[in-house]
Amino acid sequence: MPVSVVKILEKKMRDFLWNDTTEKRRLHWVSWEGVCLPKALGGLNVKKLRTMNRALLAKWLWRFGDEKDALWRRIILEKYGESHWGWNPGQRVMPYGSGIWRGIANIGTDFRKWTSFSVGNGKSISFWEDHWCMDGALRTRFPTVFLMCDLKEECVAAFVRVENGCKGWDLHLRRSLNDWELEEVGELLMTISDCTVNEEVADQRRWDTTGKTYLVSAAYTKFAQNNGVTDFPASLVWRTETPSKVNFFVWATVLRKIPTMDSLKRREFYLPNRCEMCGCCEETASHLLLHCSVANEVWNFFLGAFSLRWCSPSSPAAMIHAWSGCKFSKEGKTLWSLIPHAIFWVLWKIRNDVIFNSKLYPFHVIVLKVKSTLYYWGKGLGILDQFWFQDFVFRWETVVQAL
Ligand SMILES: [Zn+2]
Repeated sequence: MPVSVVKILEKKMRDFLWNDTTEKRRLHWVSWEGVCLPKALGGLNVKKLRTMNRALLAKWLWRFGDEKDALWRRIILEKYGESHWGWNPGQRVMPYGSGIWRGIANIGTDFRKWTSFSVGNGKSISFWEDHWCMDGALRTRFPTVFLMCDLKEECVAAFVRVENGCKGWDLHLRRSLNDWELEEVGELLMTISDCTVNEEVADQRRWDTTGKTYLVSAAYTKFAQNNGVTDFPASLVWRTETPSKVNFFVWATVLRKIPTMDSLKRREFYLPNRCEMCGCCEETASHLLLHCSVANEVWNFFLGAFSLRWCSPSSPAAMIHAWSGCKFSKEGKTLWSLIPHAIFWVLWKIRNDVIFNSKLYPFHVIVLKVKSTLYYWGKGLGILDQFWFQDFVFRWETVVQAL
């Protein structure tokens, strides 16, 4: 896929996500790199098109090594040759030819890093470059021995030595060893000692070290080489019980990417930074949703009903991490797990109403809104059949005890 097409398509995807139009460009609170990370690393698991394209193209490289007698392979072989003992196509340079196939052949180096081999006769596995006796290439793990070796590009079978009917390994070193080199050579011999070469069996290629066949999804993960938030609480953020817009908000909150006053100031919006809920502190995500006197009162009400004493966590992310299960019935556990989402969401909606519509919300109305939200979500899941809405409004303690 041409890079220019990828750029156009990904721009359309970004515009859709952040609701951009030709007239109005909105703030993109999370970078596209961040959005494309897996959910477990703090992203939305949106696939990068270029990487996905490479993973799909690489499937042809896998098939090239597998389908030895296929007609299409014979045509490619005739035109471009082969490399790596027939596992990969050659990269013969010609003034003409298929640009698509050249694109496929060009990702061969990356592709080879993720394949490993099960040793048979050892005649089609590179001793130094392929992954066959450990996770990685011997050349990388034992660089000193590699430099001393005379056979740098030979297959595994070339290193087998048969003596008195017994098979061993000959490293083909060009000189005698110094004492400081003995340890590395010994370690290499230990590493390969468990592998045996069997003349009767053909070498087999495996995808990754899992032994599975080629999977585009697994290849995408390898090609993407993601770096993100390693301890992102994805399973606690992305809940099936809550609306996706709420999950999206909680996701952005945990990443500290919601448009609170401090975030807007960092983006050079010149606004007086004041929390409109309490009127006496600067507004940050942590303040608004946890430490503000209004928020604190709401948390105290709901945690107090469960007879829990608590110390306010430092951030919404810490709150989500710390929200562990309590000893409830199955329905109770579900309802309990929805409380942070409900409080975050209601506080955010109220904050916007206060700022943009100048409304006022007494404490009991905020609590009522959280209860209504919980009831609405719980009723939709069918876990609150024994309760009426009036129970939530007037007999909250009874509801909690029944859970
Ligand atoms: Zn406040």
